[in-house]
Amino acid sequence: MLVLYVLSIFLLIGCSEVVFNPQEVPAGSQSNYNMKLSMDTNGLFSADISIDILNVSNEKWDELKLYFIPNMFTSENSPQLNTPSEVRIESVQIDNKDSSYSLEKDTINIPLRTSVSPNESVTFQMKYHFTLPIEGYRFEKIDSDYHLAQWYPMVPTYQKGWNKQAYTSKGESYHTTFSNFNLTFDIPKEYTLVSTFDQEIFPSVSNNSLQIENVKEIFVAILKDPQVIRKKSDNVNIRVFGTGKSEELLDEVADTAVESFNYFQSIIGPYPHKQLDIILDGPGMEYAGIVTVTNEVRKAIIVHEIAHQWFYGIVSNDPYVDAWLDEGITALATSLFLMHGEKDLSYIDFSDKIEPLPSNLPLHEYLKSTQSNYIYGQSHSNLAKIFNQHGGKQTAEDFLSRYFTLYKYKEVDTDEFVRFMKYYLELKDDSLFEGWLELEKTNK
Ligand SMILES: [Zn+2]
Repeated sequence: MLVLYVLSIFLLIGCSEVVFNPQEVPAGSQSNYNMKLSMDTNGLFSADISIDILNVSNEKWDELKLYFIPNMFTSENSPQLNTPSEVRIESVQIDNKDSSYSLEKDTINIPLRTSVSPNESVTFQMKYHFTLPIEGYRFEKIDSDYHLAQWYPMVPTYQKGWNKQAYTSKGESYHTTFSNFNLTFDIPKEYTLVSTFDQEIFPSVSNNSLQIENVKEIFVAILKDPQVIRKKSDNVNIRVFGTGKSEELLDEVADTAVESFNYFQSIIGPYPHKQLDIILDGPGMEYAGIVTVTNEVRKAIIVHEIAHQWFYGIVSNDPYVDAWLDEGITALATSLFLMHGEKDLSYIDFSDKIEPLPSNLPLHEYLKSTQSNYIYGQSHSNLAKIFNQHGGKQTAEDFLSRYFTLYKYKEVDTDEFVRFMKYYLELKDDSLFEGWLELEKTNK
């Protein structure tokens, strides 16, 4: 049995290389960000952002629509905050000329005087000043540390119009594609900068320029006197930062990080950066090259956020309409790492615990209290069941490696994932997806 099974997996992998062509969801826009960020000793930030946006869609653009999430934390949009953010836009320019714009919630709309045809580009520039809210969410001041997530105008994908959904704090309502970033920063001497970029050293200098290519977003933390533990995994630096945390805790987190990182590199594929940073503060959250992990550090959460470096960070999906793709697959990868030599995957069966709903509804169609059951739980348990019927852990690992290799730096949607899984596991029909995924939504 075992010989036959190994042989059939070998044949499957052999076939898929010859025949299967991945079909990515086109991004429609392609951006290069040039950013200047300075912070004064009172925590007032000034930013000067210039984005070259190339139209790689088939349509002519008559307007730009960008995310500007800092505006969601002002007193107007977050009246519940005691210390909201202050945001003041100084100027908006298109191709070096002042431009009209409107800012509503987290959307900046800019009418274009000259339309931008396919393969043409446009430069968007914005200067603004901001402070961070206390008890914001991801974009916030925590004690004397500053966490800057989604702090700059971000270019959405363009798919028959700008793919820009309204902000919601449940899940990720923003979706961006792989972009290049150049950040010049200037911060007070007593702080250190820890970020997506992989060239920063500790303690950081107070001003420098950093570059990174092919990441979906950049996260920047500005920390005051953190403790740090550094470990190496192959050629990657793994750094764990904590303020007011014990050295034992930092060390334990670093060991878990190195162990899971090694596992993911060996079964999924190579991590593309030179550094991975982990900050022990803020919500459990993934960004390219850096993750934050809550105060109650749990092993599964650390491993989960690290697994996102592959599924979110390198294989992309729209987290508003297909959140299950990165969350369910990340949960699956996490459980594979946490297994102890069993052949079959373990999972919690959600099917008799929740009202039947697909795992791939857009965020606004779920109740906040139950969405994670569908996006994380139901998707993970159904994937686990499918793999258990087709060889268990070994098949799941081989599948993830193949999936990653085919789709790295591409965007996947539910239908494309199912098309690949049916091909890889030689499934004859959609029966294994019925009841938990809604298929062919795009053609309806
Ligand atoms: Zn996650």
